[in-house]
Amino acid sequence: MASTKNPAKALMGSFKELGLTAAQVRHFVPEWWDDDAAADEGGLLELQIVLARRLNVALESLHATAPKPEFRAATRRFKTIHPEGSTQLAAAAGVGHGLAHVLAGACKTEALQERLSPTDLRARILETYPAVTLEGLCRWLWEHGVPVVHILNWPKQLRRPDAMCLRVGARPVVLVVRKEIAPARLAYLVAHETGHFMSGHLAADNNAVLVDDTLPVDEQGFAKDEDEKVADTYAMELLGGDALRSACRDVGKQSEEVKLAAAALKASKGTGLDAGQVILGWARLTEDWKLAGMAMRYLMTTQAAPIVVNDVAKSYIDLNALSSDGMDHLARLTSMRFDDE
Ligand SMILES: [Zn+2]
Repeated sequence: MASTKNPAKALMGSFKELGLTAAQVRHFVPEWWDDDAAADEGGLLELQIVLARRLNVALESLHATAPKPEFRAATRRFKTIHPEGSTQLAAAAGVGHGLAHVLAGACKTEALQERLSPTDLRARILETYPAVTLEGLCRWLWEHGVPVVHILNWPKQLRRPDAMCLRVGARPVVLVVRKEIAPARLAYLVAHETGHFMSGHLAADNNAVLVDDTLPVDEQGFAKDEDEKVADTYAMELLGGDALRSACRDVGKQSEEVKLAAAALKASKGTGLDAGQVILGWARLTEDWKLAGMAMRYLMTTQAAPIVVNDVAKSYIDLNALSSDGMDHLARLTSMRFDDE
């Protein structure tokens, strides 16, 4: 039944006004789904339920013969400087909500209620980890009931924001979307999102979402919005503050990547600083991003940054609490594999 009257196709095509093409909606359709199953009322209902959950739209809005999907009520804030950004970011928020609900249900620990200052959080992480690294930060968050994952498999041609943070009930959830290889860069993004929820920027209601379109990973100080300034300051303090700034200056003039990597390792040794952050900070001072990028590769003893985030996530996710649909959805968006469990 390849006709365009197929109700499954009509349903997927109906998300256009929300900024999602039929092909992008198909990204959220489980692999077992066959469009022909929509000829049956029960089959169509199943697809409606799955899409409503995964894209955070009201199920009732999908029931009509000519469906008009509507996002479920949420307090949404979009941090973008692009004029057309908000429709695309609204779609991103829908995707974020759908995934955040799955993660919140699969997190064993009760959510952290305390708001920690960046120096306090830094001190807590350093009790267990040698520095506030990407892995250390993600582990600490999961252990305190804050899920963090990387959405590697973002729908094609849908605007890819850098990151978002959301609230599911009282639980904050951090989603990283930006593709980066260097762990230090994603550590900055996670630290920034942590700054948002630790500073109460999600306090408005239980369904709040904050989408960060583009974050100043490489440059500091251009954030115009007050919340963005607060989250950036929080991130910088969490990652090392004055000690980090002084280590970056100590690295001095460099023109070879291996020497830069060595100088950063030396400057960070025994200081609780991550050498990758020292290189990032050095690049902010010198604007030599090319050399910094090459030097960071010498420090990569771990996997690429998104894999670091998702390997940590996988070790904390409670598989018994995950429905098979939730697992399918999570696996699809994050590229995590659960079939070897
Ligand atoms: Zn932000």
